[in-house]
Amino acid sequence: MVKTSRSGKSGKPQRPRSAGSPPVRPEAASKAVVLLSGGLDSTTVLAMAREQGFIPYALSFRYGQRHHIELAAAEAVAQQLGAAGHIVIDIDLRILGGSALTADLPVPKDRDPAAMNKTDAIPITYVPARNTIFLSYALAYAEVLGAADIFLGINALDYSGYPDCRPEYLRAFQRLADLATRAGVQGQTRMRVHAPLLHLTKAQIIARGVALGVDYGLTRSCYDPGSDGAACGRCDSCQLRLLGFAQNGRPDPAPYAAAVPR
Ligand SMILES: [Zn+2]
Repeated sequence: MVKTSRSGKSGKPQRPRSAGSPPVRPEAASKAVVLLSGGLDSTTVLAMAREQGFIPYALSFRYGQRHHIELAAAEAVAQQLGAAGHIVIDIDLRILGGSALTADLPVPKDRDPAAMNKTDAIPITYVPARNTIFLSYALAYAEVLGAADIFLGINALDYSGYPDCRPEYLRAFQRLADLATRAGVQGQTRMRVHAPLLHLTKAQIIARGVALGVDYGLTRSCYDPGSDGAACGRCDSCQLRLLGFAQNGRPDPAPYAAAVPR
């Protein structure tokens, strides 16, 4: 089942301001698909795609994640950043389980951030093959839209060691995209997979987003929020996010549990 909604008051993206904006690239009128979870990284990527002159179409998934707070965040973010469209696709990954995000398993808390990006210790919050599943849908959506560009917010520095967030994974999917679509095979379009956060730290990502006017108070990153939506402050995602804001010398505007220092 696919649910479609449109974002933005006019249904059209807000074009980048001319004053103070960098030069718009030749792809100025091109559509792009942006994978949008409602979290900090994908929201920043949406803002970056728009800044580069693309007409962004946001794509989110109701995949059986334990909370729907992030989907509400995605909707708010898509509107705030002027996405031309926003669709939410239902795929129930709970049928497969195998992750603390899609099954009734405890989310790790209070891990040492320095130990998080070790690929020999992939945490239980890893959702099996999630990025491959999401990118496959993005590829299909792009082909139907007539878009040649797909943006996603994977990051190889401040992350939890997930295998589908690595540069070699991205290169392999780009190779797949070259072969997988009718437009690509007929030589009409070469799909480009953009991961502009790949080599940025969380602090650098936040700095970029702040410069682009992202309202991070709308975004949600916690793996285990309370029933009131407040972030736990202790899961990997919360810790990396809080550290990134601290390194920027600014408080995280998203809601946290009362005991979380910011
Ligand atoms: Zn958390």
